[in-house]
Amino acid sequence: MFADRAKIYIRSGKGGDGHVSFRRELYVPNGGPDGGDGGRGGDVIFEVDEGLNTLYDYRHRRKFKAEDGEEGGKRRCHGKDGSDIILKVPEGTIIREAESGKVIADMSGENRRQTILKGGRGGAGNQHFATSTMQVPKYAQPGQPAQELEVLLELKVIADVGLVGFPNVGKSTLLSRVTNAQPKIANYHFTTLTPNLGVVDLEGGGGFVIADIPGLIEGASEGVGLGHEFLRHIERTRVLIHMVDAASTEGRDPIEDIYAINKELKAYNEEIAGRPQVIAANKVDVLGEDTEPIERLKKEFEPQGIRVFPISAVAGQGLKELLYYVKELLDAAPQEAIVFEPEYFPGEELVYVNLPYTVVKSEEEEGVYIVEGPRIEKMLGYTNLDSEKGFAFFQKFLKDTGILDELEKAGIQEGDTVRMYGLAFDYYR
Ligand code: GDP
Ligand code: MG
Repeated sequence: MFADRAKIYIRSGKGGDGHVSFRRELYVPNGGPDGGDGGRGGDVIFEVDEGLNTLYDYRHRRKFKAEDGEEGGKRRCHGKDGSDIILKVPEGTIIREAESGKVIADMSGENRRQTILKGGRGGAGNQHFATSTMQVPKYAQPGQPAQELEVLLELKVIADVGLVGFPNVGKSTLLSRVTNAQPKIANYHFTTLTPNLGVVDLEGGGGFVIADIPGLIEGASEGVGLGHEFLRHIERTRVLIHMVDAASTEGRDPIEDIYAINKELKAYNEEIAGRPQVIAANKVDVLGEDTEPIERLKKEFEPQGIRVFPISAVAGQGLKELLYYVKELLDAAPQEAIVFEPEYFPGEELVYVNLPYTVVKSEEEEGVYIVEGPRIEKMLGYTNLDSEKGFAFFQKFLKDTGILDELEKAGIQEGDTVRMYGLAFDYYR
């Protein structure tokens, strides 16, 4: 079974409490404090496992907890640290905060392992709290609380090329023909649910990964809607192959099909709809001498810059031309991997949301605005502005908190300066 979405609950370990105890030795009536520190709580870590291609396991078990740290003991005994929990996911899994849908992490590319929830720090035992005035501290620090979160896991496959089309047009057949993949080929309408990936090796060097995108559901054309299931997998592909049944063996109109799919694409994400496309007009073996359906397709789409390649996936006809053209499109397309930037930072989000802050125009300096208050101070304390991730978070914080709006209201102009606790930024919209 394949699953490309799952909602799970994760919780890090609570830090163990510090211990309160006093030395007891024979002949020493009032020993000093000797309560040990609590252990650290375990982290919740996500890790890419190359052997996985589905989130199916997360449909069964939905609660994952790291271990709590143990309480400190007497005689300065340090409590045992809680074990981390490592959750394995397929490459391309996006982890989102379930309620807001904000991205916490994209487990793809370089990002093979990421701590999502930190375990709580262990509390200090009372051995640390003796002072000259307080010889018998009855206080030890409690362990930091655990963090918990509901997250949505979502698999977006990573492929250069997405192969889209209605059921039975021949997508799986093409994939099995031109790649090492062995997808199910079936003349029925329960369309494949796994996005099958296959590697195309072109003679003369170069290759690319094709994904047979599932999820165009039966009944879509009757108004059920194509569903966004398949769209999710297209997001990371850089070129699209529209596959149609040019011979209309099941009575479908290939031109309508392409428009229907492109309409859904546009509604989902304009940018994706604008990526390079090519049409694979399949099943020409059935057409025989009849070139009319191909001519119709060409007349309709080539003026729009979408080329049409007549092929027969079954007979292996026209495939080379199609694939070399796809490679050309890929080479011309932007090369960066499509990754999802973090928008939610567990453990940093909630600490300061309700603290106050102010935005004021400086009275002494021209063109200078000052933002300060506990919320800002706290946020800066948590954020490493030197890291790309931290800086992205910082910018998002300014926007989400409404600070940017307030600066605008206060009359800030392009190029003015914003000061926050020793930091200074030039303001650009
Ligand atoms: P998918 O649902 O798009 O993945 O389609 P499949 O690859 O499973 O193919 C559906 C049916 O169309 C199967 O019976 C295939 O044998 C058939 N088929 C695929 N390609 C061709 C082709 O080029 N010519 C003919 N005549 N039949 C094809
Ligand atoms: Mg299929």
